[in-house]
Amino acid sequence: MPDSPGEFVNWSGSLRFTPGEFLHPTDEEEVVERVRRAAERGETVRPVGSGHSSTPLSATDEVLMSLDRMSGLVSHDREALRGTLLPGTGLAEAGRLLAEVGMGMENLGDVDYQAIAGAIATGTHGTGTTLPNLGANLVGGRLVTGTGEVVPFGEDAGPDHDRDLLRAARVSLGALGVMTSLTLRLLPDHDLHRVNWCTHVDWALEHFHRLAAAHRHFDLYWYPRSDLAQVRTLNMPGDEPGDPALVPPGRHLRRDETASNHEIIPNSRELKFDEMEYMLPLEAGLECFRVIRERIRERHRRTVAWRVLLRTIAPDDGLISTCEGRPTMTIALLQNNTLPHDEYFGDLEPIMRDFGGRPHWGKKHSLKAADLRPLYPGWDTFQQVRRRLDPGGVFLNDHLRDLLVEEGSQEWHHLEERKRKRREEARA
Ligand SMILES: Cc1cc2nc3c(=O)[nH]c(=O)nc-3n(C[C@H](O)[C@H](O)[C@H](O)COP(=O)(O)OP(=O)(O)OC[C@H]3O[C@@H](n4cnc5c(N)ncnc54)[C@H](O)[C@@H]3O)c2cc1C
Repeated sequence: MPDSPGEFVNWSGSLRFTPGEFLHPTDEEEVVERVRRAAERGETVRPVGSGHSSTPLSATDEVLMSLDRMSGLVSHDREALRGTLLPGTGLAEAGRLLAEVGMGMENLGDVDYQAIAGAIATGTHGTGTTLPNLGANLVGGRLVTGTGEVVPFGEDAGPDHDRDLLRAARVSLGALGVMTSLTLRLLPDHDLHRVNWCTHVDWALEHFHRLAAAHRHFDLYWYPRSDLAQVRTLNMPGDEPGDPALVPPGRHLRRDETASNHEIIPNSRELKFDEMEYMLPLEAGLECFRVIRERIRERHRRTVAWRVLLRTIAPDDGLISTCEGRPTMTIALLQNNTLPHDEYFGDLEPIMRDFGGRPHWGKKHSLKAADLRPLYPGWDTFQQVRRRLDPGGVFLNDHLRDLLVEEGSQEWHHLEERKRKRREEARA
């Protein structure tokens, strides 16, 4: 089962670590067996998807577990619009498999390279005021807990299922256990019509809320050096808004095409970048962007050539979902991965925090448990579910401990003690 140990590098190259073991289980039994052994030995196990996150969610020098050999569509029900996927299924592959059985996902993010379990674990989202993040469509599945028990959740657990567990599983950071299957609510397979155009950012900002309300998907890229914006819209063919006031004067058309949802939503990204993205209350988003725009023009325009991306997301009920309970506007800062990003992100992060922002779990940010807890009404419930499923902290690496456990708490001391013992054993 173990592959040869070696360095693990994430997509952007900004994270590197060397796991003690890099496993690729082929079925749930293997996952159970290895998690049980880890629990007995006091080891850490971190699941990993396609490595597109740029926070060290999966970093470990102990057991790294990729689910890439557990991929495919397990079952589907076209009438009920449900499909159950194995955790390592890539989003592109999921799109193809679901289209073959006449269904498609409600939305996707900017790319489709991620594994389904990895994308859902961090609250990956696309854009659209009526479209929630991917995890909101998770209605059930199975996971292997920190004691090596297999726990079905949501619809997979039957009608009397534990509602808090499902809400925790919708964005879980791999802290509840290793997901071994995911059941999704789907839509009938559908085409989408994409229109992208360029205009001045002032026009796009003035019409932002109307554009967001009129189009199924709408987002905008602001280019700090030119002050131009690229506006991107997607709609079901025939559902495009006919309002001429929503067409910018002198627009420059960049793309106009129709294709199946899973082919037309994702883009291909060859140039590598690092990113910070905050989810803001929709009503505060534009004012926050106004302050961000001023700051970038004052201090960062010379060093940052990359665009800033604005999107919207519908609310959901995931306990630590970044869109929990509120319509959301997102602001994403991007920087070429070969250029420094610390000063840029570090200067703008406090502005997004001042406007009530919640950081994307898979992108750069500096928050810790004490900062995060007040942002999520369901925080304590999530921690109860997590401690119930993983009482020994098998799935907590240092980064997750910093995110989820308050420094100085009993659990914090327990984890420190476990780490000390493991270090001593390694030295002996
Ligand atoms: C080019 C690019 C474009 C992106 N576009 C978007 C976008 O449009 N919208 C957006 O919201 N985000 C976007 N992201 C962020 C990305 O979607 C998230 O970081 C996502 O979590 C990455 O998925 P992954 O499969 O690479 O998972 P990884 O980064 O490998 O892992 C993410 C988390 O999933 C957990 N995990 C993985 N498998 C399992 C499992 N089987 N059981 C339990 N936990 C598991 C891991 O432990 C970890 O906590 C983008 C990132 C890149 C690099």
